Amino acid sequence: MNRPIHLENGNILIDPTETSCSRTLTIADGVIVSVDCEAPKDALLIDLDGRFALPGLVDSHLHLVQGASGMGEIDCSVAQSRQQFFDLYINASMQAKHNDWLVGFGWDEEQLGNTPDSSWLPSNDTVPMLAYRIDYHCAVVNETALAMLPLDEIEIMNGGKNIRNGIVREDALYEGVCPHLPIASNETKRKRVLQAITAMQSNGITLIGTMEDIVDIENVLSPISLTAQMRIAAILLDAPEEKIFGQSRAFDTDLLHIFGFKAFLDGTLGSRTARMYLPWEDAKGTGLWAGIAQKGMLDTWIRDVVDAGFAPVMHAIGDAAVGKALKALEGLDGTPSRIEHAQFIADKDLPFIHGQMFGVQPLHQPGDAAIADSAVGPIRAKQLHDWRRMLQQGARLSFGSDWPIAKADPLAAMQAAVLHGLTVQESMYASTVEGARSLGSTKSGFLTKGSFGDVAILDTNPFECDWQNTRPSVTMTILAGNIVYTKD
Ligand SMILES: [Zn+2]
Repeated sequence: MNRPIHLENGNILIDPTETSCSRTLTIADGVIVSVDCEAPKDALLIDLDGRFALPGLVDSHLHLVQGASGMGEIDCSVAQSRQQFFDLYINASMQAKHNDWLVGFGWDEEQLGNTPDSSWLPSNDTVPMLAYRIDYHCAVVNETALAMLPLDEIEIMNGGKNIRNGIVREDALYEGVCPHLPIASNETKRKRVLQAITAMQSNGITLIGTMEDIVDIENVLSPISLTAQMRIAAILLDAPEEKIFGQSRAFDTDLLHIFGFKAFLDGTLGSRTARMYLPWEDAKGTGLWAGIAQKGMLDTWIRDVVDAGFAPVMHAIGDAAVGKALKALEGLDGTPSRIEHAQFIADKDLPFIHGQMFGVQPLHQPGDAAIADSAVGPIRAKQLHDWRRMLQQGARLSFGSDWPIAKADPLAAMQAAVLHGLTVQESMYASTVEGARSLGSTKSGFLTKGSFGDVAILDTNPFECDWQNTRPSVTMTILAGNIVYTKD
């Protein structure tokens, strides 16, 4: 057993539903054992010197293994033009020591001036190339890749109609193209996951909700010595089947457990594949239904997941997709569930959001706001990411980053939320208490006696910080009573 840790001389926020602070906190055997008490004789003393401490932060929606391993080596977000985009791939192909796929990520048509197609990428007969859009819901491939892919099959898939131009979206991307990409070894994945976790610890995160395939839980996350690294609640991308349920139940510890299953109901705003009630202003149609929703299987899917004791988690960005998710959850009173993103909510669906948990991503707001007027017009643009309106209607908010799409930095997310109209306390609540509850955890999110000994220590009191111009930064992170990060 580790020595107890005793934090003293600080402003320690024990319960984020309040703003009053305690002076001291003791952690032993991984949990909080006392608040405002004397230090045990053998304890490691940490003098906070007036600094602010709060429950370890939660990032309730990210893609740990996928983001750390397979989503590409070429950073296309630096390209500002067609020529720069092309040059990134030319340079990478000159340096490549193999003829394997070259995969990049992070382009954005706003920044590039246009949506790339296969002609934007080099074609040299040997190296297939792919570039994911920043939201990973769309990709462009080169001519060499097109020559290798089963285009007839992909073309009739949902999101596949532009494949012959090299553009592929949604199901056609994930079911038609991705199976042809090389897979990183488990060892490589583990190494990169640990690097990613280290960065998250430095941002005060002690609990993540991550979207994973069960094979990666078994082969990548579980074998890592997760002790004193990160608490992980996984949401599975696998189809909910008896075999997967059995495998899932094998992971049920304080550090790694399976919380739910995820289904995609639609696409994204950036790709204009989010499903809206009314047409896009600057693109044809109303977006796409994806996966389970497109197949008309949503109700069955929810029943299977809930009956097996897991939470249904639904990706729904467009207002029609959110409406469908809300309808599908009717009658599930008390069963944990989440709706992810919920970027647009129509007025007619507002009466149904009371008490519903939404996983939202404050760091997506500035980029989405920049395109909203042209994509949906001024009236619907006002509804985009309107968290104040959601709280007023009794919705519950849990903050996440969707890393690697945005940085896994809860304090940056809180700042984005504060700048977009939430209070500091509401933002903190969504990053602690509600983040934890949205992952089925009752022992994270608080520092009350019996809670997990997970603490983030900040350089500035967030209630006294000028968030318009700055934000606090993390100086120490403690997980289960172990110091996993210090600034110096
Ligand atoms: Zn995501």
